[in-house]
Amino acid sequence: MRTLILSTCLLVVFSCSKPADKPAEAKPAGPPPLPSVIDANNMKAHIQKLSSDEMEGRAPGGKGEELATAYIGDYFKSIGLKTQMQAVPLVGVVSTATPLKITGEKPRTLKYGDEFVAWTKQQKDSVSVDADLVFAGYGVVAPEYNWNDFKDSVKGKIIVVFVNDPQLDDPKMFGGKAMTYYGRWTYKFEEAARQGAAGALIVHETEFAGYPWEVVRGSWSGEQFDMVRPDKGATLSPLNGWITHEVAVDLFKSAGLEFADMKKKALEKDFKPISLKSRASIQIKNKMRTVNSKNVIGVLEGQIPDEYVVFTAHWDHLGIGEPQNGDKIYNGAVDNASGVAMMMDIARAFTKAPKPKRSIVFMAVTAEEQGLLGSQYYAENPVFPLSKTLAEINIDEANVFGPNKQITAIGYGYTTLEDTLREVAAQQGRTVIPEEEPEKGFYYRSDQFSFAKQGVPGLYTKSMPLEASRKYEAERYHKPSDQFDPSWNMQGAVQDGDAFYEVAMRVANGDKWPEWKPGTEFKASREKSLGK
Ligand SMILES: [Zn+2]
Repeated sequence: MRTLILSTCLLVVFSCSKPADKPAEAKPAGPPPLPSVIDANNMKAHIQKLSSDEMEGRAPGGKGEELATAYIGDYFKSIGLKTQMQAVPLVGVVSTATPLKITGEKPRTLKYGDEFVAWTKQQKDSVSVDADLVFAGYGVVAPEYNWNDFKDSVKGKIIVVFVNDPQLDDPKMFGGKAMTYYGRWTYKFEEAARQGAAGALIVHETEFAGYPWEVVRGSWSGEQFDMVRPDKGATLSPLNGWITHEVAVDLFKSAGLEFADMKKKALEKDFKPISLKSRASIQIKNKMRTVNSKNVIGVLEGQIPDEYVVFTAHWDHLGIGEPQNGDKIYNGAVDNASGVAMMMDIARAFTKAPKPKRSIVFMAVTAEEQGLLGSQYYAENPVFPLSKTLAEINIDEANVFGPNKQITAIGYGYTTLEDTLREVAAQQGRTVIPEEEPEKGFYYRSDQFSFAKQGVPGLYTKSMPLEASRKYEAERYHKPSDQFDPSWNMQGAVQDGDAFYEVAMRVANGDKWPEWKPGTEFKASREKSLGK
């Protein structure tokens, strides 16, 4: 309670010390309204610039990166932040795959893009795979749920697995309806490598992936990036890929299996890998280059300069890729020029306020779209110690579709940051609600996850009105049509920016460090990092 009272007092001090530009009005009962510090037009100008065709879709390692990071860095400098670039060494790979040849009962040749996508994380010029296909359920080994889909060896084989985690009715299993990390595509490939598989092909289903096939297809067209790996990826499976639902139905059928039966079978605890009575072969050629990509970091020093509250927003997007409707530039206006724009304006607002107790770090990270690489690199090579980092607030996709009385906390109930957000939101007449679609695993899909893995409590929210959000996901997400629209209603983004500003201010000035709530999977690593 003390903390709450103290931070409320600080808020009053700050709001009083600001020049009054409006006459005071009679106050209604309830908490005092939250002052607004975020400027809609500033945000729009930043989004328009960052998502312009000139920026070429902001892929790491090209002209788009040069222009975007310079724009953000110059802006940070112009408002007086201590600015630096953190070099993030990456390997850029352009893969060309042959069609995927299936041999067996019903031979066929799959067309790249329409029926499958494939790549290799082995950093070699060329990789050839020719191996038996085996269905491995969800491809999960989860000791805490007493679950193992690999009761028989799949060594040297190509596994076919379902996306997401086992959708069991039991709320104690795999987070119930919510997706756990076992449901993420990144996990599937990591586990395939641990099992010594020659490859993994994930079966795409829109409902369980959280996005349509075009997103899979678009996301793996063009140059792909990875960390520089000392072993050149030798321990990873040679083949990673996705196949469409239709292809999977066919593969099962030619082995005498029904797709629907396999969906049921995969939910059984005694599931064992099932032969698909066919082989697949493919050759993948890589053109590789090393790239020094960048995280752009601006710091507003606090009175205790070596303790930090960190904001992140990824500056990168997909670059230039496969054309859709004649447009090949994936501008990424909402994803995530909008989040960077909001962070930039929050930074500006901080420079106008009295100096906070702790330092505030504003970080535009690279290669989020490539598997959270920039934030992972930072979290593993922190410029500022993570044990001195109180909290991280990540902004990925601002709400440009109008005001919303509700803010959705992704990873609802994870941290005490959410309680601070709830107090702040109440002052805006808004409420914090749980995720509508926890099965989509959003908590694992943006940069707060890199910090969470290292124990830093992270806040990540969404506030697009549901209808608008669904429309955006279906029509624009990860497509060239994610473009700036001057008619956007920025009121929702202003509300969120105001709220994040205030949460960061309260944490920076507060007595109590934010914490993971009991029972959350990241609590132990935080306690270890703080030496508890
Ligand atoms: Zn994003």
